[in-house]
Amino acid sequence: MIATQLKTNYLRNPVGIDPDSITFSWIPQQGIRQTAFQIIIRDKNGILSDSGKVLSQQCIYTPNVRFTHRQRVNWSITLWDEKEIVGVAQTAFFETGIAKNQWIARWINPEPDGRPIMEDPEASEPASYLRKRFTVENASDARLYITAHGVYDAWINGKHVDGYFLAPGTSEYQKRLQVQTYDISGLLTPGENEITVMLGNGWWRGRWGWSLNRYNFGTDISLLCQIMQGNNVIAATDSTWEASRNGPLGSNDLMRGEHYDARKKISHWQSVKEEPWGFDTLIGTDIPVKAHERFSATMFRDVRGNLVLDFGQNFAGYVELDVQAQGGEKVILTHGEVLDAEGCFQTLNFQNRQVPLCDQRIEYICKSGRNVYHQTTCYFGFRYVKVETELPVTGKEFTGVAVYSDMEQTAFFSCGNKHVNQLFSNTLWSMKSNFVDIPTDCPHREKAGFSGDCQAFSGTAMYLMDCYPVLARWLREQAASQIESGNIKQLVPKGSEVGGKDGSAGWCDSFEIIPYRMMKLFPTTALVRELYPKIKSWMQFCIDRGKSYRPENAGIPQIYRDYIVDTGNHWGEWCEPGRSSADYEKEWKETGHAELATAFMAYGCKLVSEIADRLGFAEDAAYFRTAYEKTKAAYRYVFLPDGKVQSNRQCHYVRPIAHNLLTEEEKWQTAADLAELIKAGGGVIGTGFLTTYELCNVLTDYGQSSIAYDLLLNTQQPSWLFEVQQGATTIWESWFGIRPNGERWGSHNHYSFGSISGWLMSRAVGIVVEDGTITIRPYPDARLGYVQGIYLSTYGKIVSGWKYENGRIRFNVEVPCNCTANLVLPNGEVHKICTGNHTFCVANTMQRDSTA
Ligand code: BGC
Repeated sequence: MIATQLKTNYLRNPVGIDPDSITFSWIPQQGIRQTAFQIIIRDKNGILSDSGKVLSQQCIYTPNVRFTHRQRVNWSITLWDEKEIVGVAQTAFFETGIAKNQWIARWINPEPDGRPIMEDPEASEPASYLRKRFTVENASDARLYITAHGVYDAWINGKHVDGYFLAPGTSEYQKRLQVQTYDISGLLTPGENEITVMLGNGWWRGRWGWSLNRYNFGTDISLLCQIMQGNNVIAATDSTWEASRNGPLGSNDLMRGEHYDARKKISHWQSVKEEPWGFDTLIGTDIPVKAHERFSATMFRDVRGNLVLDFGQNFAGYVELDVQAQGGEKVILTHGEVLDAEGCFQTLNFQNRQVPLCDQRIEYICKSGRNVYHQTTCYFGFRYVKVETELPVTGKEFTGVAVYSDMEQTAFFSCGNKHVNQLFSNTLWSMKSNFVDIPTDCPHREKAGFSGDCQAFSGTAMYLMDCYPVLARWLREQAASQIESGNIKQLVPKGSEVGGKDGSAGWCDSFEIIPYRMMKLFPTTALVRELYPKIKSWMQFCIDRGKSYRPENAGIPQIYRDYIVDTGNHWGEWCEPGRSSADYEKEWKETGHAELATAFMAYGCKLVSEIADRLGFAEDAAYFRTAYEKTKAAYRYVFLPDGKVQSNRQCHYVRPIAHNLLTEEEKWQTAADLAELIKAGGGVIGTGFLTTYELCNVLTDYGQSSIAYDLLLNTQQPSWLFEVQQGATTIWESWFGIRPNGERWGSHNHYSFGSISGWLMSRAVGIVVEDGTITIRPYPDARLGYVQGIYLSTYGKIVSGWKYENGRIRFNVEVPCNCTANLVLPNGEVHKICTGNHTFCVANTMQRDSTA
């Protein structure tokens, strides 16, 4: 038996991470059961720790070693199988980044007279270039430690330092700024060397977010970097560096794009200014953003005469161009994600109409000869690109490159309906497009870390890709930005973005719901333990908020009133078909969104009590359990006086089932009532952000799986497959992304409603991993013909599929090494199955809905 997928903090061979709380994980293969493991940890001085043979089936290990900064650590792992046979050792490594007190470099600012004032007030400042010569005796074992206010790109002796796109990424910069570590040994030569760094505006002082504000974190751009060989500092930023803002890259902005004149050599070098920014906020980097898939384009001319590239897939990234030129010719690329009703290029759907500055535009001026270029200070959301150029182009000159955090796909799905397969792919692409350093709402209009979007999608995200490090890091940003009262920001990293919706129910509940989901799925409590004090104070904030009330609710008996959340500023259910943001604002003014805010508080208290239990905080667990019970009682008193939902909105049925505010019997009845409501409404979906991710789950779990399939397979608007049939390759923000009048509306790349792909994996395929237990409970439906799903879980590869054939349904499942699974068939049979492949058949007359 051997260990595979060796990871450190759920990352493959990470470089530049912080040394605290290091955890190793692996997946055993070739054998049935791991009976023991041995882990040996070494650095350049020899063995740091040897676990010896540990008799355990666990595939996670927290070494009892104090790692230091700037330490390269190798670890090897040997496994014993069920026959006590020892396998071949496998190895992995990690390297820690630089400590705050190991910096001798100074922060330097390439704009000694301050931010240049631009003639056009809307224009962004040009990029700066910084350089320094230094000498080395040999080229071995050299590291570059680097970070910036802004975004940077670096070259050693003209060769690009590869590894991260848009470094140092985005974070709560005032508290946390990531430092990157690069092994640059291969780029150095003995003798004289030169480092050049380009600094762009990035998230620090460029535009992003709904209002497209600039200067969210500061008005400077600054650089901090240090090159070391062993303990020797070879080069470090200080006042001896030179800077120029006369290089090829002119204006640059995350939303607006770049102006690049390839004819320009960097000139007018001048001195830099040292800045007192200090080192307190510096942290290591977990997971880089990298370039991934490459797409070629077809080119066409639309009826308005635009020359348009079609990459066939909506995604986040950039276009790489490769053209021959005489010099001076322009190539202007404008990026859009959906054509208008006439099939013409447009970008209106993702503009904030008050501030229509999401240009996504590259203006490139060619040098003579071959021009190979792609943007380095921004990324865009697009499928189509309008090309304006005097060069003769065929489309082959352009390659689309997807960028996203360096995650691997972990869920694979196929079935007998090609539209459903496309829907799954669309979800995956909306995830890739929106896991760019942090989970964002969309890759164009805002690029913002909205908590509600991530809350709604995170369960699905954890199936689709190995996103633990991205979620963990973003939760740490959320923790870092917590307000003193315990309140949580609705959007992180936030900068100066305003909105007044901090603490918004269902949005900020990401702060307890996502860590809870991670705790259930992954065999470690390290993250939730780290975040726990802050999660607890957020929940306490919610409980305290319950005590204040709207005057019209004064008559509610106090034991209930104290637990009704009718104050605070909430977005509401959001994006239900037929409702506008103005409707939600009105509803907030009229009701305070009390129904959903109370339901989230109850649910949150329940989850936090379970977290406290798991961490061994019995008193807290009891406290939050009581708060849950009381909130549930209050919810029922006010919103369900006779245990029955009376509403024409689907969310009002889904929420009390999903948030556990009903008895089991009531849940079955409520799901049946919901099914009736859906049928009466013509079989179409009616939910928004805060219940779509639970809608099909509650229907399926409470006897209405055929209605869940009706919703899945509906092709009338609003529905998932309407989008697919309109040619969507990602998930739309609004069910009316194409309005009945043909207008393209809102973002076409928001992942929230893609949560249906979580249902495909957890209910149609039926794979659920929770608390170390694998359950396979597929809900087949003849309309799909067959389903095949693979989930590369943290415990290994789980397969489940079913097929309707010859009057029966055949199930095939595969259980990974070292695991057993409970297979629950639609006829009610439960089989405990072990490692390997298994096949079962049931008569296809079985109605899962009666035995769910
Ligand atoms: C975003 C959403 C976000 C919302 C807040 C929008 O502009 O794109 O997805 O959650 O604002 O309601």
